[in-house]
Amino acid sequence: MDFGLTHEQQMVVDTVRGFVETELYPLEPHIERTGVVLPELGAAIRRKVLDLGFYAPNIPTEFGGGGLDHLTFTLLERELGRASMALGVFWGRPSNILCAANEDQKARYLYPAVRGERMDALAMTEPEAGSDLRGMKCTARRAGGDWILNGTKHFISHADIADFLIVFVATDTKRITAFLVDRGTPGFEIRPGYRSVSHRGYQNCILSFEDCRLPDAQILGQEGQGFAMANTWLHATRLSVAALCVGRARRAFDLALNYAAQRRQFGQAIGKFQGVSFQLADMITGIDAADHLTLAAAWRLDQRLPANREISQAKLFASEMLSRVADQALQIHGGMGLMEDLPLERLWRDARVERIWDGTSEIQRHIISRELLRPLGA
Ligand SMILES: Cc1cc2nc3c(=O)[nH]c(=O)nc-3n(C[C@H](O)[C@H](O)[C@H](O)COP(=O)(O)OP(=O)(O)OC[C@H]3O[C@@H](n4cnc5c(N)ncnc54)[C@H](O)[C@@H]3O)c2cc1C
Repeated sequence: MDFGLTHEQQMVVDTVRGFVETELYPLEPHIERTGVVLPELGAAIRRKVLDLGFYAPNIPTEFGGGGLDHLTFTLLERELGRASMALGVFWGRPSNILCAANEDQKARYLYPAVRGERMDALAMTEPEAGSDLRGMKCTARRAGGDWILNGTKHFISHADIADFLIVFVATDTKRITAFLVDRGTPGFEIRPGYRSVSHRGYQNCILSFEDCRLPDAQILGQEGQGFAMANTWLHATRLSVAALCVGRARRAFDLALNYAAQRRQFGQAIGKFQGVSFQLADMITGIDAADHLTLAAAWRLDQRLPANREISQAKLFASEMLSRVADQALQIHGGMGLMEDLPLERLWRDARVERIWDGTSEIQRHIISRELLRPLGA
């Protein structure tokens, strides 16, 4: 692996960092207070990113996207991770599973998503099927040449602002199929979800299907191939979580480092006390380790090497590291760390969900150990 960034990669990092610091950071306190991103604000962020030429950076150029390789896209995600999720979501990164669409579907879903005209969200989780997705109860049954969907999905991120959903349902007990479902389809309802401690303003939603009729043309990929397709296209979303965690941890660390250098108690900077300086040493070591794991996994994807274990390691380590670093950064700020005047209490709250979504820490450990044991027949 080459540890140096190319000119293009450095440009991506600098551009995203600059955008996040100048355009998004100033908006964060308001979003935290209100818990709402007004549609016109979201549209304005999207317009600026489109003008920058950085929209849909993960989608291949043949489909109109930015065509970044995995490593460069991971660097982009890392910088974007510094900012509030509720704002960063408008830096459109359509689900790359849309590349599996047929020509008709590409025209209706992928290309408009790449142009910033339509937004997607992805729905797998159900009230009774979280880690164990094979237990999903949401079904699609054949009726008169169409499909009739029934059931409920929950915890579906940013479905409130999505124009269409990529929904995984059981077409029989063992077969999972992905459907493209437009907002407004009769029998399909998007409702507000739960109030979460993490990522204020970034809503999760409940989806209800009641005899929702869809034609074959709405199946993404092949019937019954939903999980195979998800395994091909969606594993990289765990890597995005890892990268976002690294970026956010560096933001918390930068604040803690500066505070430790400036804040004086007992006649000296608090950073001079070993109790604080050793925390800083542990924080930066964890951040760099997570960064290297994450970029190494992205590099493996670019080399077309197996990367399932490495992606899970990055997601596991980076999300757990972020929780520690956010907590330590808050601790180093003392009482002020808890106050809404600084972003630390938010970074601390936001960190918590990273160990849960896109596969919990326990599930990542399961994937890692399975990858180790399977070749030995265990
Ligand atoms: C804010 C938020 C947004 C989300 N966004 C989306 C989204 O956009 N789309 C989507 O499809 N999903 C989304 N999710 C769902 C998320 O991926 C699930 O919450 C997650 O996979 C865990 O499922 P669960 O919450 O049902 O927990 P459960 O699966 O019920 O797990 C409960 C506990 O049991 C543990 N556990 C379960 N099985 C095992 C095992 N085999 N070994 C060891 N421990 C185990 C888990 O690690 C966990 O600690 C979101 C979740 C949240 C909180």
